[in-house]
Amino acid sequence: MRITRHKRQILLFLVAILVPAGVLLGLMGRIVYQDRELAAKRAVDQRHAAVDQVRRELSSRLEAIKLQEINRLMRSPNSGMARRSENSAVIFTARLENDRLVLPWDAATQPDSPVSKEFAQHRQEGEAQEFVKKDYAAAAVAYRMALASARSPLESGEARLLLARTLSKTSNTEEASRQYRVLLNDSGEARDEQGVGFRFYAAERLLNLRSEPDVVLAFLSKEVNGDGQLAPPELYMVRTLLDSFPIAQTAQLRQRLSGRIAQIEQAEALARDFPRVRAQVESGAAASPVWVPYGGEPWLITITSPQPPLPGLVLAVSSSKVAPPGVKLRTHVSEGDALGEAFPGMRVEWSDNRLLQTAGQGVPIGIWLAVLALVLGVAVFGGYLLLRDVNRDVRMTEVRSQFVASVSHELKTPLTAIRMFAETLAMGRTRDEQTKCEYLETIVGESERLARLVDNVLDFSKIEQGKKIYRLRPTRLEEVAGSAVRAMQFPLAQQGFRLHFSVEEEMPELEADSDAIEQAILNLLTNAMKYSGDAREIDLRLEARNGDAVIEVADHGLGISPDEQKHVFEKFYRAPSHESRLIAGTGLGLTLVAHIAKAHGGRVEVESALGSGSTFSILIPIKANT
Ligand code: ADP
Repeated sequence: MRITRHKRQILLFLVAILVPAGVLLGLMGRIVYQDRELAAKRAVDQRHAAVDQVRRELSSRLEAIKLQEINRLMRSPNSGMARRSENSAVIFTARLENDRLVLPWDAATQPDSPVSKEFAQHRQEGEAQEFVKKDYAAAAVAYRMALASARSPLESGEARLLLARTLSKTSNTEEASRQYRVLLNDSGEARDEQGVGFRFYAAERLLNLRSEPDVVLAFLSKEVNGDGQLAPPELYMVRTLLDSFPIAQTAQLRQRLSGRIAQIEQAEALARDFPRVRAQVESGAAASPVWVPYGGEPWLITITSPQPPLPGLVLAVSSSKVAPPGVKLRTHVSEGDALGEAFPGMRVEWSDNRLLQTAGQGVPIGIWLAVLALVLGVAVFGGYLLLRDVNRDVRMTEVRSQFVASVSHELKTPLTAIRMFAETLAMGRTRDEQTKCEYLETIVGESERLARLVDNVLDFSKIEQGKKIYRLRPTRLEEVAGSAVRAMQFPLAQQGFRLHFSVEEEMPELEADSDAIEQAILNLLTNAMKYSGDAREIDLRLEARNGDAVIEVADHGLGISPDEQKHVFEKFYRAPSHESRLIAGTGLGLTLVAHIAKAHGGRVEVESALGSGSTFSILIPIKANT
């Protein structure tokens, strides 16, 4: 019965906790799922917005660059083309001629422009003197005249180069070097039929003369870092010339140069590939200008329509330089976000990952779990408190009903005896005077037991209501104990008990409520009788010990187990185990003893072992009382 109720309670408890917890868990799962979905959606939206932003930024930057380039070329169509743009993002701006891409350095080469007649004559004369007659001085004179008659940078460059060469043959190295230096600094854009400017030949010869390597290095550095559009043969020649210098001295320059060579090689590749690129540019939406990617770290290529005096232009811009910060532009990748029609085949790669990090965020799962754990914890704790309360109530109800049964039983026993003996006497059946006397004593003894029981119940109820009052007066304990012994004499004798009452000689007087103390001693003596089993000896001792007056009641009966000793002073408590179950009682006697002791500033102690009896001691401090 008890176990089933216990099981039912646990089941109810679990259901009360588990069902809401399950529902809560489900709801939380749903919220977490929705939260994640929302966060993912937000991330996608954010990404789209970011791509839009990149597209807008990129378009406006590119358009600005395009305008800047057109303006630059409008101002100086020819020399502008031969110079590199001041904007480092621009790789080159080239002409579109008859559907062909004319790279800037190709445009600057004019190998087939004819020389003047006079110049040609002097040059021929000089060459005859130099190579046939080996008369270098005369050759030098002829070349000087050629130089004087030169009418184009091409002619003057060539004449000066020839002059310097013959001068070095006449061992006039100084003058030769001077001429080369003039060429280094002032040879214009003129290139020979190989597409190489005269200044580069001058540098080569100066190096051969070994007269001024520093000047040559300064020249090479200026060319590599400068804004002139060098033709491929020129760059290759610079590379060869740089080989004459120690690597450590020219590492940076070489690196720059390789960059430029890679650029022109890619530009040459683009020129070959141009029809395809052009088709791609033109296939785009007419409304917005299209920028087609080309190459590994792609260039962005676009074509502008002719705007007289400018022809159609092809503009190549470095994507890495023009891309907004935190963004890389890529072609041959499957991941990344497409940039749209204006940039066919281009994707955005987020180099700082800031957008990817926001994806799928939302409230972290740890927080949800913590909230769940908290809610569950509170629910379980609340459930536990409720269960404890309910259990206590149930136990109290049980105890009370048991108490009522016990009290009724306890009342009934003396009442039955009183009635029986009174009736017998009333009927006058007993003639023997001694028997009559015994009957009357029994009636008186049972009435006293009844009175004690009622006193106990009434006192307990007063204590519960907080109305119990103790009247302390100077009291001699031996008198109180003596009165209790006298009250118990008849019942003790009736049941064959021997009471050993001993008092230490000098017991001090105490401030005490003598009725209450007597009641406590009576309760202890009654218990000693009830729980004595077959033993028939009881001791009542009064003594002063360690500043306390001690009232000790000892029996040699059933004894109390250590576990039960902890509870015997609790209200309504009755030891569940041994024979005491069979002995009538209310569970109030010791509660009252403990209360009385406490009211006198003292305490009750019990010493007991199962089977060898118990000793209860009421200890009342003497000093506090006197
Ligand atoms: P009761 O009316 O049951 O005697 P008490 O409060 O006087 O109530 O005692 C509480 C319980 O303590 C008893 O039910 C009994 O089990 C145990 N008890 C009290 N006195 C003794 C004793 N002298 N020997 C053994 N057990 C005792």
